Amino acid sequence: MIMNMWFTEWFGTWGWLIALVIGLTINIPLFVWARSHRHLTIFACIIATFLGIASWMINPIFYFALFAFFISSNLLTKYRKKDKQGIQDKFEKGGERDTSQVLANGLGSFIFALAHLLMFIFTDNVILSNAFIYAAIAAIATVTADTWGTEIGILSNDQPFWILNLRKKVERGTSGGISPKGTGAAFIGAISVSVLMLVIEIIWKNPIPASTTWQLYLFIPLAGIAGFIGAFIDSLLGATIQGFFKCQVCEKGTEKKIHCNEPTIITRGQDWFRNDHVNFWSSFLAGVIAFGFGCFGFLL
Ligand SMILES: [Zn+2]
Repeated sequence: MIMNMWFTEWFGTWGWLIALVIGLTINIPLFVWARSHRHLTIFACIIATFLGIASWMINPIFYFALFAFFISSNLLTKYRKKDKQGIQDKFEKGGERDTSQVLANGLGSFIFALAHLLMFIFTDNVILSNAFIYAAIAAIATVTADTWGTEIGILSNDQPFWILNLRKKVERGTSGGISPKGTGAAFIGAISVSVLMLVIEIIWKNPIPASTTWQLYLFIPLAGIAGFIGAFIDSLLGATIQGFFKCQVCEKGTEKKIHCNEPTIITRGQDWFRNDHVNFWSSFLAGVIAFGFGCFGFLL
């Protein structure tokens, strides 16, 4: 083990219990609120509570990043909701997040957080242990960037560009479509997460091995950049592998398999590869990129 878990450092022998009580005290009201405002379905609430508390116990830095993602995406989803209604019809799912959406957004970072925990407990390898922290931050930065980009991008009055051919324009809300406004929002979303992580590092003095403090100032912002790259991977997967359909009744393009009460026909991609797969894989790949950056710690 590199050093004691954060709660043991902070609170001593019974630290895990104190940390768990704090985690429950913060999370239970939060998810009761989320449920009562119809942000999450019931089962999604349970999964999100588990991911939240587990992240908190592993390292509060993951928790704060997830918290920032959760709050900001809920606010942005509500923002100018009426203006988005016409376009949201294209998306597979609406405002209330279900279990697979929660996993699509949270599983990538959780895998890296777990990998970090295992490295932290079973090895003395600070660089690999920390590289998994950057990977988890990048995964959260990706889903934040994607949500911000989508929620702000669909409010743009201009038609988005097709990511595979920037001279071509596509309908608003098409997966694989990118707009300057959406790209800007994705960038701000990804960078905000990493800046927040740095601020927390400074004020909380989170127990990431102190000998590598300077590396945090290099690799956490790089994790934010990896998150921004992740948002592009998201659009690329959305334009290629993700199933996209056309309604046979109203002829509109959509991610839905049923539109106007009729089955739609597939126009590109794989019909089993849906938006949730895109979100998971883009966050996972961004994490791999940030992990790669973090491994340069060996050379520095
Ligand atoms: Zn239709």
